[in-house]
Amino acid sequence: MDHREDGPVSDPIIRIEGLTKRFGAVTAVDSVDLEIARGELFALLGGSGCGKTTLLRLLAGFETPDSGRLLIDGHDMTGVPPHLRPINMMFQSYALFPHMTVAENVGYGLRREGIAKPETATRVAEALEQVKLSDFAARRPAQLSGGQRQRVALARALVKRPKLLLLDEPLAALDRKLREGTRFELVRLQAELGLTFVMVTHDQEEAMSMATRLAVMHAGRVVQVGTPHEVYERPVSRFVADFIGIANIFERDGHWTVLRPEKIALSPQRPTTLRTVQGKIIDIAYEGDRSLLRVATDGTVMIVSALPDSAHQRGQSVWLGWTDGAEHILAP
Ligand code: ATP
Repeated sequence: MDHREDGPVSDPIIRIEGLTKRFGAVTAVDSVDLEIARGELFALLGGSGCGKTTLLRLLAGFETPDSGRLLIDGHDMTGVPPHLRPINMMFQSYALFPHMTVAENVGYGLRREGIAKPETATRVAEALEQVKLSDFAARRPAQLSGGQRQRVALARALVKRPKLLLLDEPLAALDRKLREGTRFELVRLQAELGLTFVMVTHDQEEAMSMATRLAVMHAGRVVQVGTPHEVYERPVSRFVADFIGIANIFERDGHWTVLRPEKIALSPQRPTTLRTVQGKIIDIAYEGDRSLLRVATDGTVMIVSALPDSAHQRGQSVWLGWTDGAEHILAP
């Protein structure tokens, strides 16, 4: 799915207009306008305190905005309580009941709604199948791994068949290795079910690798919306360039210029590219599949990504070269 960052999205399921939420002197969400299309896996991304969780809670109805409007499927949600919104939320803590089995946890919401036992059983079985936990239905949460608990929480959210699933840092409680595998699982499930997912994360790698589009937030505001590719290649500001991935940011001819480390070639001799600069390697961070080198040039330190090569040494003189097209010039 490729939505342009400028202009309205086709078939929006969520429309947010000038939404603002204050807590005393803090404006947690500040005049946010945003549209999310049906079927997207949309990420709200930002550092601690930027307002992403508050925005998610406004969507769910756990917070009431001070001003602005929120429409879901064209319906104004003002005054609509959480349980009457076509939404379900998966909490970061999972909030599973320890005394209930997996199946009872997943079926809890349906039982509370008074749905008949046979239908509840069928839907629970279907949800457990979707998250590949059919064999674990009789276990209790304490008898599961962290990853399995995460999938129970997901099944419990999916079983209600919401139009919209909100996920608050869905992978934060998992260790790094499991988190990477689970990313793919979540993306697969979202695509298979055709639901709209809105996910909050502070992890830019997670947002970049999973989202169809993302909103970068800073100090309560949405500072950029776009596909991961657009946001990485064409950040709108120094803040976004720096927040998403690694960026060399320097001023030239009165413009701030962004140059990503992988767009710079490193060579012992002066390269033939339009842009060249000479420097000295001051640091090498080996990362297995690549090395990140810090190169001191006249006036600035550049970060360069290179294939790991034992020939690179600290203190070595090198040339950096890149094409004009590799640079992204920020609007003044
Ligand atoms: P984190 O990743 O640290 O959870 P966040 O981006 O989700 O951060 P929010 O939880 O939305 O940030 O908080 C935004 C701002 O609003 C912060 O300054 C926070 O302290 C404040 N805030 C959030 N909830 C409340 C509340 N219930 N009462 C007072 N202030 C609040």
